[in-house]
Amino acid sequence: MTGNNGHPEVNIGLVGHVDHGKTTLVEALSGEWTDQHSEEMKRGISIRLGYADATFRKCPEGADAAGYTVAEACPEHDVETDVLRTVSFVDAPGHETLMATMLAGAAIMDGAVLVISATEDVPQAQTEEHLMALDIIGIDNIVVAQNKIDLVDAEQARRNYEQIQEFIEGTVAEDAPIVPISAGQNVNMDLLIQAVEEEIPTPERDRDADAEMLVARSFDVNRPGSTWDSLAGGVLGGSLAQGSLEADDEIELRPGREVAEGGQTEWRPVTTNVRSLQAGGGAVDEVTPGGLLGVGTGLDPSLTKGDALAGQIAGPPGTLPPVQESFTMDIQLLDRVVGEDTDEVEEISTGEPLMLTIGTATTVGSVTSARDGEAEVALKRPVCAREGAKIAINRRIGARWRLIGVGTLRE
Ligand code: GDP
Ligand code: MG
Repeated sequence: MTGNNGHPEVNIGLVGHVDHGKTTLVEALSGEWTDQHSEEMKRGISIRLGYADATFRKCPEGADAAGYTVAEACPEHDVETDVLRTVSFVDAPGHETLMATMLAGAAIMDGAVLVISATEDVPQAQTEEHLMALDIIGIDNIVVAQNKIDLVDAEQARRNYEQIQEFIEGTVAEDAPIVPISAGQNVNMDLLIQAVEEEIPTPERDRDADAEMLVARSFDVNRPGSTWDSLAGGVLGGSLAQGSLEADDEIELRPGREVAEGGQTEWRPVTTNVRSLQAGGGAVDEVTPGGLLGVGTGLDPSLTKGDALAGQIAGPPGTLPPVQESFTMDIQLLDRVVGEDTDEVEEISTGEPLMLTIGTATTVGSVTSARDGEAEVALKRPVCAREGAKIAINRRIGARWRLIGVGTLRE
């Protein structure tokens, strides 16, 4: 198979504790630095999901030992490598207060690389929290990258490896391969690519269904002071769960925008046209599922500025899932608060606020009624979601939101 004309066909999340090397690994594999926004550069963390694509290749049979690479020529024999496929990386931030961003990003991951530094004890707080999030969202195609092996001696590397084995036992990552690497020094990248090729297959998706794009980001790409006649329309970033999009297609965004009228506010779908499409680092005529993409629209850029439409769904008018302002969910609570040794998860009670992640949407809901194993919530900001959707449930504990369980949307 020779891939998808160079366009990404699978989304791979990078998850794990802050500073363990997620962004460095993406850079080693793609040659791009995902922390591209100045504010992110300053703070040294990926505040928003970063995008970067990489094309995996393999040396022709017999030309090289392991043979997996991102290089266009085999290092030893100077023959051209065969293209396997192009992947999109979703670089989730490790900073603890941004768990919501990681959960929202997980909605567009087909598999994940869990990066664990060999220089620290296992697990660190977000190592555990991110693995639990993968479990809750149902991402079970996982590769563990034991990173920074250049910084430890053989004995330390082995002890750390055993800690990782013990940690993943009984979790969704139980059967995941553990690949010792140094992202910083480009060590064992071939083995990591091989593991990803073997563990994270390109999912089958329905290209003929109505388009459904999960919007993870939205932008205004205009420079301040642009005149109205040179103004570009608002841009959406995200991934197609199904179907395809072409230039001039009419799309609707749900829940849309909040409109105030006569002292009342309500959410109304927004309709616009596809003006341009970006995928795999360039302009394209059509996009299909897999990979992260950018959609230029005819929307007023003030509507898309600063991720204002993140969490919404786009597709042909009249085909999208319903907008939910309140709903009942079946709930499964975790045994204990992840990242804490002792704290049991207390039952959900009426009146308490919860932070809910549904697809790429994050919203705060107030519990209007709670019974055994179910709760009814009224949302501050509605979401577009269908029955059966998975919901990551977070409760405020101390100064931050902590993952406490998973819900299933009932109606
Ligand atoms: P992230 O928070 O998980 O994205 O971590 P970063 O990729 O930003 O890496 C954190 C720090 O660790 C940076 O200073 C990197 O240069 C360094 N780093 C990452 N991978 C390696 C590695 O394999 N070896 C060494 N020596 N340093 C690394
Ligand atoms: Mg990073």
